[in-house]
Amino acid sequence: MSGYETSAIQSALDVYPDTTAEDQPQAVTVDPTLQLTQLLNISAYLVSVMDLDELLMRVVTQVVVALPSVQGSILWLYERRSGGLRVAASYGLPLVSTTYADLQHCQLASGEGAPGQSLQGNEIVCIETRMHYRAIIERLNPHNRELFQQISDELPATLTSVCIPLRVGNEAIGVLELMNLGPASDGSLWQPLGRDNLSILQTFGNLVAATIKKTQLYTQTQSHRRRLDAFDAVVTAISTATDLSDLMRSVLDVVLGLVPVSSGALMLLDPAQARLTLGAYHGLPAEYVLSIQSFPVAGAGCEEVVRYGQPTLRPLLEERGEQKLLEAGLASCAYLPLLAGGTVVGVLGLYGESNLPDWVDMTTLMPLGNQVGFAIANVRLYEDSQVERRKLNTVINSIAEGVVLCDRQGQLVLANEAAMALLSLESVPFQQPLSEMTDFYGIRDTEGQPLPVEQLPMARALSGEIFYDYRVLLCGASGADTVMSFSGAPARADSGDIEGAVVIFRDITASQKLERAKDEFLAIAAHELRSPLAAVRSYADLLLRREQQRNDADARDVRGLTILSQQVTHMLRMVDNLLDVSRLDAGQLGLQIQRVNLVPLVAQVLDQQRPAAPNHELVLHPDAQELWVQCDSLRIRQVLTNLVSNAVKYSPAETQITIRLLTREILVEKQAGEADPLVDAAANSVVREALISVSDAGSGISADQQAHLFQRYYRAGGRRTEGLGLGLYLSRQFVLMHGGTIWVESVENKGSTFYFTLPIKE
Ligand code: ADP
Repeated sequence: MSGYETSAIQSALDVYPDTTAEDQPQAVTVDPTLQLTQLLNISAYLVSVMDLDELLMRVVTQVVVALPSVQGSILWLYERRSGGLRVAASYGLPLVSTTYADLQHCQLASGEGAPGQSLQGNEIVCIETRMHYRAIIERLNPHNRELFQQISDELPATLTSVCIPLRVGNEAIGVLELMNLGPASDGSLWQPLGRDNLSILQTFGNLVAATIKKTQLYTQTQSHRRRLDAFDAVVTAISTATDLSDLMRSVLDVVLGLVPVSSGALMLLDPAQARLTLGAYHGLPAEYVLSIQSFPVAGAGCEEVVRYGQPTLRPLLEERGEQKLLEAGLASCAYLPLLAGGTVVGVLGLYGESNLPDWVDMTTLMPLGNQVGFAIANVRLYEDSQVERRKLNTVINSIAEGVVLCDRQGQLVLANEAAMALLSLESVPFQQPLSEMTDFYGIRDTEGQPLPVEQLPMARALSGEIFYDYRVLLCGASGADTVMSFSGAPARADSGDIEGAVVIFRDITASQKLERAKDEFLAIAAHELRSPLAAVRSYADLLLRREQQRNDADARDVRGLTILSQQVTHMLRMVDNLLDVSRLDAGQLGLQIQRVNLVPLVAQVLDQQRPAAPNHELVLHPDAQELWVQCDSLRIRQVLTNLVSNAVKYSPAETQITIRLLTREILVEKQAGEADPLVDAAANSVVREALISVSDAGSGISADQQAHLFQRYYRAGGRRTEGLGLGLYLSRQFVLMHGGTIWVESVENKGSTFYFTLPIKE
């Protein structure tokens, strides 16, 4: 700037190549103070303008009004995104309309043209002569060169200009270009700015920059505020909506209130069908509404919005199925994806005049679209969960058994109708704590003793236990006891944590009475049958022995008597089993404990079984010759007989049955409060025990059947083989009475091994 001897505007006076001295208008000496005052007045006025567009326009007009030597002005604004200058406002340029329109879209890079130089160098740049102007045009990029050549042709040859950089601190705001177009055609006097006035112009430029910056910030704040208000309105609409259609109607109303557009539609996507369904609409022609009730995404006007999740803003097109909208006088559309976590759940369509793009601010609408998308996804999830809940309720209520669900505290959250009836409840006592249940329902064990809280069915399931047929007494509505059979299991979250429990129960009072009557009948029948059967067996054995001792024994008679003896023995065993069951029930079955060596005992059992198992090989594998335990030899013999005879019964001929005997030591972790007389009193004690196993190569037992094997009267294979289904039940009871355990390991089509243990007490 210092290189200029005269100011640019002054030079416009001085350099008039085609005019004679007489033609030149007289420059009137202007009082710089007056100009300064005028510029300060404009600045003061500009500060009060809050609208950015108005401010920019005011800057370019006021500067022309205030400075007699300025007849045209352009305000270039710096665009951070592109790093260049764009025309934000201009005034007083006598350009033809096409050139003027091109100028509006022109962009100058930093350093390009006089404004670019001014921006880059942060200094005032003056173009004083046409030559200088031409030189600058030469250095423009080709596209701009053509435009500025055009401008140069249309503006007077006497054009001179000054570019004032607009900056706030280090931040570039733009460039204010002031132009002197030469003397007016009416010959009126005009004023140059003196050389000294450049500093005044720079000061003015700084004030303008600060004012623009302030207004930009204000505009930004306003738009943030509008965005927040929009969010607020949408969030309110979302939170007050009662269902999905209400939600969509309110959202569309809110959006149409934010954007000055009166036509819109909200469409929901069904991803499985790849179809859109109209959810809400406003201001659309009836025929168009009919056509978009439900339509495929493929070929739809908003297809790419659904596919790529990006908004689109374009003129309405007949070939995109928007003929009806065009006929209704609409010209443009904006489609916005409604996204839930990146997934398109719907589309918002806005329709308006050709100026729709001026009104639709995608930066505000996109986050709104996400908000609405999430709300739609949530409502859908909620509605789906309600449907599932209704289904679940229907299923649960159709179950004849009582079903109750409780939370992790044991408080009821759901009870089906059967449960309500069985528990004589009119309404579910939702808040009731577990500790009050014993008294509330009069829950007792089968002996009539009140159940401790931890033994309540709910508590057992909540502790992680899965149980079946847990029988307890409940005080019925009539005051009489009812026997309930409970089955229960914990309800676990995905993490595996127990978050509640499910308990199913039924009233077995009547069936238990029947069961008792049956047991009593069987006990009486067995008792009455035993004596005659024992007599028959004695005589059958006697006759068999006599027949065998005769020299002329008839083989057929021997065979007949053998079968008679075996069958009667089998019948006696069944009768004995029935009697044992009734003795157990009556608590009359005591053990005669004595020291017994298991090895010869097992050998005897095998010897007894061999005649009845001529086609099986019975093998004994003891790991020592002696294995002493304290037990009732009669009952243990019964257990072994039962296991071996089962192995014979349920495995094919010509296979081996192996009985193993061994001793082992196991670590017993003592539970708090445990009082097992057979377990050493010390915590985590080591216990010695005898382990007896009976293995066969039979058909095996499925996992389902294994769960029931030791139940009373259970028979896995149906009625094909003889038996009552009591052998394993009694075996288990006898082993438990000895403080041992019994279990089975079986692989289908490979065979089964039954194990039982007896504690060894020194
Ligand atoms: P029973 O033999 O009188 O039927 P148990 O109580 O001894 O009664 O056995 C119950 C059921 O268990 C039997 O009906 C049979 O289906 C099954 N079972 C017992 N032992 C075996 C075995 N070794 N192999 C296959 N199934 C067996």
